Amino acid sequence: MKLAHDQATRAQGLERLNDFAPLMGSHYAGRRNIDAGGGRKANVSQLSPFLRHRLISEPELVSAAITVHGAEAAFKFVQEVCWRTYFNGWLEHHPAVWSDFCISRDCQLESLEKDNSLKADYNSAIEGNTGIEGFDDWARELRETGYLHNHARMSFASIWLFTLRLPWALGSDLFLQHLLDGDPASNTLSWRWVAGLHTPGKTYLAKKEAIETCSDGRFSPKGLADRAPAVDGPANPAPSPLPPADTLPQAAFALLLTEDDLSVERWIPETLEVESIAAIESASFRSPHGASRKASAFTGAALNDGAHRAGVHFGAAPTLIEGIDAEALLLDWAARLKTRLIVVPYMPAGGGWDRLSPVLKTLQAEGFEVRQVRRDWDEVFWPHARKGYFKLRKQIPSCLDALGIAEGQNIDG
Ligand SMILES: Cc1cc2nc3c(=O)[nH]c(=O)nc-3n(C[C@H](O)[C@H](O)[C@H](O)COP(=O)(O)OP(=O)(O)OC[C@H]3O[C@@H](n4cnc5c(N)ncnc54)[C@H](O)[C@@H]3O)c2cc1C
Repeated sequence: MKLAHDQATRAQGLERLNDFAPLMGSHYAGRRNIDAGGGRKANVSQLSPFLRHRLISEPELVSAAITVHGAEAAFKFVQEVCWRTYFNGWLEHHPAVWSDFCISRDCQLESLEKDNSLKADYNSAIEGNTGIEGFDDWARELRETGYLHNHARMSFASIWLFTLRLPWALGSDLFLQHLLDGDPASNTLSWRWVAGLHTPGKTYLAKKEAIETCSDGRFSPKGLADRAPAVDGPANPAPSPLPPADTLPQAAFALLLTEDDLSVERWIPETLEVESIAAIESASFRSPHGASRKASAFTGAALNDGAHRAGVHFGAAPTLIEGIDAEALLLDWAARLKTRLIVVPYMPAGGGWDRLSPVLKTLQAEGFEVRQVRRDWDEVFWPHARKGYFKLRKQIPSCLDALGIAEGQNIDG
């Protein structure tokens, strides 16, 4: 299976989901760490770019796995989907970790301009010219395809940090630019996890033998670091309460879509009156360097697809807002509305929210009510994502129960 930017539609996501559903049970549990390379990644779903934009949703994936394999055999797959939920929820409880990352990334990007030796090492890493087998291949694969297998991501991050001794924030920024699934929470917190910052003192050391096994014998890198001392960094702040979520209004409203939720027709009833729909691009805000051409094209196509489906669902032609004057265009769109009520599917912490929140504040100052509405999935799971993953994992059965996702039931929400 090969990902291409023109495949960024819900229909493509569903096709991939249906193709992979028969493998979500024992095959996934036993083989998910093996990355045979190229187009032969049949052991994992490669659904993350679709999930990132919610072209398809977590309940759809989990329900497919449980329906086909039963709750027990599907549990490994369900747990992995819940890692994404955990990271999203954890960052919502610790938003300062995102802002600290942005500060550290910007400092490191500045250092690159001043420190020639750092710049040379950084360039050789991102171009795949370090001479380290596997690492160089993954650097090229990342740029060429916008996707890396989870084990490749872990090994890449570990070698970046402990063998090449490059700053983690620059690696995380590189991933955000290039991954089609580039996600502020999963990406930042996974890099922090490898670095020993997320689970204090616990780092991930990439070893030759594990890389040989997980790359299906393709790579056997020499000269890897044999120690992984935790990276210096501030301790995790105490969790703060989740930002409150709003409810859907009964009066007419305007709908503002972002790359964070592109299948609103699955959960916002068509009986509600939507006066107008706008979809705003924000992939260019993933990094000070923007997003790669592939990632921008994927997100752009996803935004078009999501806006189109929402338009059909609510009977309102969508407006696509993009470009450097997007903020002004958004204010202009709002000025032409009859309603003073704007609904935005909840935007988690990240570059998109950093871009949009000042404009939403301006709209509020101009008398608009802006409601951010969360999906039931996030409402049920996120309260369990304050501390470690295992606390959330324990709650998976009861959360699925609360959401009405049980064996033999096919949820499509
Ligand atoms: C350094 C590093 C950076 C990462 N950056 C991102 C990122 O920007 N965006 C992103 O979506 N994931 C990220 N991940 C997590 C994980 O690697 C990907 O979600 C997974 O590889 C996606 O491939 P898949 O869809 O084939 O996964 P599958 O194995 O088929 O899993 C199904 C779904 O479960 C979720 N999932 C699986 N494993 C993880 C995990 N370890 N953490 C979080 N969610 C998971 C994903 O949404 C995935 O689509 C990162 C991991 C590491 C180690």
